[in-house]
Amino acid sequence: MSAILSHVMQGAVLPVHVCEKLDKINRDFLWGSTSEQRKMHKVSWSKIVKPKDEGGLGIQEARAKNIALLSKLNWRMYHEQDALWTKVILKKYCANSRVRSRDLEKLPSSPNWKAINMGFAVFKKGIAWGIGNGVGVNLWMDNWVNGESLRAMIAGPLRQEELNLKVLDLCDYQAWNWDLISFNLPQFIKDKIKAIPIQLYGNGRDTVMWKCSNNGEFNTNSAYRLAIEREEDAVQFSGQWVWKLDMLPKIINFIWLCLHGSIPIREVLAGRGINCIKLCPICKEQDESILHLLRDCVYARDQWSSFTEGFETWLKTNCLSEMKHKSTTPCCTLFIFTLWSLWKNKNLVVFENTILNPRLDKVCLCQAKDYYYCISKAKQITPTIAIPVRWSKPIPGWFKLNTDGAPLGNPGKAGGGELIRDSEGRWVRGFSRSIGHATSVIAEL
Ligand SMILES: [Zn+2]
Repeated sequence: MSAILSHVMQGAVLPVHVCEKLDKINRDFLWGSTSEQRKMHKVSWSKIVKPKDEGGLGIQEARAKNIALLSKLNWRMYHEQDALWTKVILKKYCANSRVRSRDLEKLPSSPNWKAINMGFAVFKKGIAWGIGNGVGVNLWMDNWVNGESLRAMIAGPLRQEELNLKVLDLCDYQAWNWDLISFNLPQFIKDKIKAIPIQLYGNGRDTVMWKCSNNGEFNTNSAYRLAIEREEDAVQFSGQWVWKLDMLPKIINFIWLCLHGSIPIREVLAGRGINCIKLCPICKEQDESILHLLRDCVYARDQWSSFTEGFETWLKTNCLSEMKHKSTTPCCTLFIFTLWSLWKNKNLVVFENTILNPRLDKVCLCQAKDYYYCISKAKQITPTIAIPVRWSKPIPGWFKLNTDGAPLGNPGKAGGGELIRDSEGRWVRGFSRSIGHATSVIAEL
């Protein structure tokens, strides 16, 4: 279903109520709700729609996905300026007479133009400019200084004539004309600007890159991240390791819920306003929290030897442990199956009135062994090959140029140098220079 939608979303703005309906279908599927029976949503929708490394499940919110795909339309329009469809749209909607109109918003426009407008904000946020001749890049508003705009780094008002300056005006034959600006730019900004590589050869055209990808090409997932950007959570999710566990998906999902403090135990239910007794149904001595159920309850304590750290540290250390149990099963596999069994056992006691399993350790060890020897992915060991790196002479009559650059920190104050040697390795010429404030990639360039 998601793929069919993506096709439509690439060229049209879906109405808000359609997006909400799509999100509801996803939510109902995730938690098992039907029109007859509603199930509890253990984790809020705003967390679910985040990417996995930010604590979500990677399910994409329909509206944000729509906007992200429409930003791709802007990207295509910029890079396919010679295509007929781009020429038609630019001629029709970007003609001077239309752009200068007082009631631009009220003028008729096609669904495609509305779609392009909808994705423009994310497109603008996601691009960075590479400077060719600087003629098409606004000095203050465009993202050309390490993917950021100068305006975002400077507070305070600017003069009207300054607002219209282009990078070309500031860059005069490889030298920066700082006098053009009515105030003194802070030194750290000047250092960043000095480090920007300027095109010496080529067609001189300024280029647009996607700053959220490694190769500069548009990437829908990163556009989605920009489209859902909201206020930062007070507590950042630090359980990215959970997705790397070699374990059954339903158990990984259980640990993910634990990290969000969202498995339906009595303390969590009471915290959500459900009227229930908080006392642990097994020991009846303390409130039933996640830590109590999985580690500190009398029944759980028999399984463990370490109790010192906080819940998340305890969970992470044991889930990622590389130690082996005496049965040669990895301790982490045994640990995770024990967590899962404690949870399942408690549910059997509460909902089916069974008694606690006195041989839980044996059951867990069998499950862990079965999983490890029958299902688990064998770890591939990549052999490392040492390649000796040394300087080699050029052929007689030739010279060799070696260059390098490095920043102090990444990014940081950067410098670089070059050295020319002849075929006997004799020094011919060399120089070093300050590059400004740059990342290691720029320093190497
Ligand atoms: Zn207890």
